[in-house]
Amino acid sequence: MVEMSCEDHDRYAASSQFITHTVGRILKESMLESTPINTKGYESLLGLVENTAMDSFDLYYGLFMFNKNSLEMLEKLDLAFEDLRKQLIAWLHRVVRNQLIENGERLHQLDGSNSHALHRRAPNESALLHSSQSDENTKLKIAIVGFGNFGQFLAKTIVSQGHEVLAYSRSDYSDVARKLGVLYFSDVDDLCEQHPGVILLCTSIISTVKVLKSLPFQRLKRSTLFVDVLSVKEFPRNLFLQHLPHDFDVLCTHPMFGPESGKNGWKNLPFVYDKVRIGNEESRILRCYRFLDIFASEGCRMVEMSCAEHDRHAAGSQFVTHTTGRFLEKLRLKTTPINTKGYETLLSLVKNTGRDSFDLYYSLFLYNLNAMEQLERFDLAFESLKKQLFNRLHSIYRKQLFENEQ
Ligand code: NAP
Repeated sequence: MVEMSCEDHDRYAASSQFITHTVGRILKESMLESTPINTKGYESLLGLVENTAMDSFDLYYGLFMFNKNSLEMLEKLDLAFEDLRKQLIAWLHRVVRNQLIENGERLHQLDGSNSHALHRRAPNESALLHSSQSDENTKLKIAIVGFGNFGQFLAKTIVSQGHEVLAYSRSDYSDVARKLGVLYFSDVDDLCEQHPGVILLCTSIISTVKVLKSLPFQRLKRSTLFVDVLSVKEFPRNLFLQHLPHDFDVLCTHPMFGPESGKNGWKNLPFVYDKVRIGNEESRILRCYRFLDIFASEGCRMVEMSCAEHDRHAAGSQFVTHTTGRFLEKLRLKTTPINTKGYETLLSLVKNTGRDSFDLYYSLFLYNLNAMEQLERFDLAFESLKKQLFNRLHSIYRKQLFENEQ
């Protein structure tokens, strides 16, 4: 029971109720579909659509018309979405410009005599031949490359299961690593000379090519298992097959949760994997199984599917979820004394997605073939909702004018 003045109610409800219904209606018009690998965030959006779409348009229109704060809220939503779109386009513009400029410079260099570019990166085969291929231990030696937000989050659980974890990153995370029980290397050569059985790539999607090209493969064991956790899958799969030595095993994965949605354990959270290339030897098969078991034993819902299928299902749902979370974040929504269930959903979505880097969001946009179309669809859905509201306003006012005239 909450006793409050009608004025206070309307002020709070303009954000909690009106924004919730508006977002629910925009998403409904965007025609979201359930997938076999829904994240928690996406599930909550689907729930929101179901919750709000059942209500009549009259109800929604009532919230708009009879609450004096609603128009301001609608404008804020509009500005926030526009701002997010501008941010994405500005990044795109910068990246493409940089590429064009870089390409121009490269062409310029190639014009001169340049033969040594081809000599780079020939792995030392004889050194590789001497490396041991057997892995008798039940515990794995895992080297995390990219020890940012997500790398550290995974390390915590992997260490707790008794595996040996090493890490390397562009920035210095030695203090964090020490606290987590992880051996930190500031030199990637030193890390690789520890001969980890598994390399776990946790870098941002956009830096993958650069990071991959900088790894000294010749210092690793020939049987190394290469795993990634990128939120898109066909892109790293193709890169690995193209750049990694043929003897390396390749496992592409996507833990479909993060530090926020997985903070209370990983039970029932989806973990997607594709055994892209695993050698026939028992030790290799076992090692892959042991790696997967890190997630299975925490209760993850293990889903084996091809990278292409993953991208078909996830790229869309992830991008929509992050877009909704990000544009709502711009509104700085606050909890109110009268939060509805739907509004609580939005608040937790903002919390879930807001902590991820813009790099991550931008990659979901860049590496998803349909992202531009989805952004447009979201925009059109919003426009069409506003049109419905304003058309009604217009027709009511016209009718009133007409009646007064008569
Ligand atoms: P992110 O911003 O996607 O990646 C941050 C990591 O990338 C840091 O380790 C950072 O190293 C490294 N990095 C960025 N630019 C680099 C560059 N130019 N050269 C070398 N390293 C660079 O944030 P994240 O949340 O930690 O995600 C890491 C990976 O996990 C991503 O591929 C993401 O798709 C995937 N993933 C994330 C989540 C999630 O909930 N966050 C869930 C599933 C999968 P420094 O910190 O040393 O600079």
